[in-house]
Amino acid sequence: MDPSGLAGSSSSVVDLPNQGLNSRPGRGAGARARHGCPRGSGASAAAAGPRGRSTLYGPEAAAAYDQGVRILIVEDEPAIADFLERGLRAEGYAVSSVHDGIEATRRAMADDVNLIILDLLLPGRDGLSVLREVRGGKPALPVIILTARDQVHDRVAGLDAGATDYLVKPFAFDELAARVRAHLRTQRQADSTTLEAAGIRIDLLRREVEREGTSVALSAKEFDLLCYFLRHPNQALSRQQILSGVWGYDFDPGTNLVEVYVGYLRRKLGQAGGSAPIETLRSVGYRLRA
Ligand code: CA
Repeated sequence: MDPSGLAGSSSSVVDLPNQGLNSRPGRGAGARARHGCPRGSGASAAAAGPRGRSTLYGPEAAAAYDQGVRILIVEDEPAIADFLERGLRAEGYAVSSVHDGIEATRRAMADDVNLIILDLLLPGRDGLSVLREVRGGKPALPVIILTARDQVHDRVAGLDAGATDYLVKPFAFDELAARVRAHLRTQRQADSTTLEAAGIRIDLLRREVEREGTSVALSAKEFDLLCYFLRHPNQALSRQQILSGVWGYDFDPGTNLVEVYVGYLRRKLGQAGGSAPIETLRSVGYRLRA
């Protein structure tokens, strides 16, 4: 087998990276702008599909569904990681990648990701060990193992450790993409189309917000931020978590973006009745009191 794990014998199978890194995998014409409501990694979201699949669910659902589905790639082979990143971005997902097991565990637990693609043989920490820890904290998070280990006992070990799915390298990108869609679809079917907490109700399909029955008009980013708070009621949320979950920043851009938008939200929610239930936690961040 090609050491990259990418070589394949049929035209439907990925034959990168040697000559193919300039040709993007997948069918997409480019990543789509993210402007949906950020999804939690577990039990909540709106009700349609990722780019290209949303017509299955009707135009209204498509308009509302969060295209900001976040996928974390854990892969230490740079060519494969790059290939996956570009292919999944072309499918419309927000993608990030890490290259060792320790960082993978940290990101999987701390970040608001919707699906993980996990290699097994990794520096720092083995993929199965990463998986077990992630499973302990996030039982519903879809995790697809993507590995060169192709024996039956490997597959059994992976699935028993909590993998949602198991795909062997070399792999066909279209199959991986289809499995990603399938697992996101399954997750989504359990999801709700409304969020409610602290007297605030968000209709994700209509992108409408009410507080104590009074309509609140929000900008797109204010709406995203409020969704994020309602998905994490009573949790202390750091500015970095909010920047990552709402704006997609994996770094602190050194601005007061979060402060400014929390200010907007408080003012608009306040106009609909009483002070807004978003507390400032000094030196930490914010919390929605519900
Ligand atoms: Ca590896």
